[in-house]
Amino acid sequence: MVHSKVVSEFPHFFLYTMLPRSKRDTNLVPSVVIGSGPAAHTAAIYLSRAELKPVLYEGMLANGTAAGGQLTTTTDIENFPGFPDGIGGTELMENMRKQSVRFGTEVITETISRVDFSQRPFKLWTEWNDGPDNEPARTADAIIIATGANARRLDLPGETKYWQNGISACAVCDGAVPIFRNKPLYVIGGGDSAAEEAMFLAKYGSSVTVLVRRDKLRASKAMANRLLSHPKVTVRFNTVATQVLGDEKPMGLMTHLRVKNTVTGEEETVDANGLFYAVGHDPATALVKGKIDLDDEGYIITKPGTSYTSLEGVFACGDVQDKRYRQAITSAGSGCIAALEAEKFIAESESSGEEAPVNEVKQDPQGNTAEYKSNPLL
Ligand SMILES: Cc1cc2nc3c(=O)[nH]c(=O)nc-3n(C[C@H](O)[C@H](O)[C@H](O)COP(=O)(O)OP(=O)(O)OC[C@H]3O[C@@H](n4cnc5c(N)ncnc54)[C@H](O)[C@@H]3O)c2cc1C
Repeated sequence: MVHSKVVSEFPHFFLYTMLPRSKRDTNLVPSVVIGSGPAAHTAAIYLSRAELKPVLYEGMLANGTAAGGQLTTTTDIENFPGFPDGIGGTELMENMRKQSVRFGTEVITETISRVDFSQRPFKLWTEWNDGPDNEPARTADAIIIATGANARRLDLPGETKYWQNGISACAVCDGAVPIFRNKPLYVIGGGDSAAEEAMFLAKYGSSVTVLVRRDKLRASKAMANRLLSHPKVTVRFNTVATQVLGDEKPMGLMTHLRVKNTVTGEEETVDANGLFYAVGHDPATALVKGKIDLDDEGYIITKPGTSYTSLEGVFACGDVQDKRYRQAITSAGSGCIAALEAEKFIAESESSGEEAPVNEVKQDPQGNTAEYKSNPLL
């Protein structure tokens, strides 16, 4: 056969470089999205609608969270626009996944275990195919990292039983639900987040008590002053929670908290219908540590207002780069930004190194317009 003759007469590398790049590497795709929360799926919806056939690795219990992300660990979402009666967290994420698939996203239920960003196309391995001599599972021109974050827990006795049945790690998400209305609420933490959460909860609870392990707040001076002067808030220094107590029946709610003074050792049981953790989050960035810039808490640093990381072609969105808002809607919004920026990057890379004129509206033979081209902001 002609083909085998050519192969036998020419060195492999020559043949290889004669092929268009897309044929050289069968694993090469324009874009890979890592993650499966609102940020990842919003990015995938935009990329797939732009005909960029993204591959989305949704993880297999990656970072201890089911595919679908943090929202799969909660019940009703009442603040995501478009659902006037609320929607279950898992249902919302299933809908987003369906929407990604509908437009052509290839969703793979595997966890990305290793990346090589040293040159483009970037290389990715999954937990299933990783090994020193293994070829990467995929290579990609652009990568969107949307691996999210996890709220830190304290492993208190009773914590697992009353998690989401009185215990929450997000006052903005859960504070307004009826079980907390006019009830004594507790916040654990001494930083800005704890202060913000406590003041937010003061709108709903009968009282809010902030438990601070040390003898002072870590919050900024202005925030600390606001907290300490709030009529509904009490701050208890040198105090930790030691146990969560409540209704014993399945799905029973928490009703009390054991607290301990760390100086005197004294313990007491207090009425408490809500317990909000504000002890920090752990962004899922072990995968990219040392490969792109992270801040001192491990969050991916993005250029403000964009998804650009320290490495061209690698974009980040959602909670993995946002330690302030941490909401489904802000994650989704940043996923949109990442997709539009990745799309722009891919288009410009493909135009032989020449900057693509951003205002020129290009259409494919079917008359589809790449979304970023029609976006006057980009
Ligand atoms: C209990 C709870 C209740 C909440 N309630 C609300 C609410 O009511 N309203 C609201 O707006 N927000 C709420 N939030 C916050 C909201 O869930 C988050 O802000 C949002 O989910 C962040 O989305 P994300 O896309 O950044 O990533 P995440 O939702 O964190 O998802 C990231 C996903 O990426 C996957 N992943 C991680 N590493 C890898 C890897 N290496 N390979 C493949 N996959 C990987 C993980 O498995 C995870 O599933 C709540 C959070 C919690 C924990």
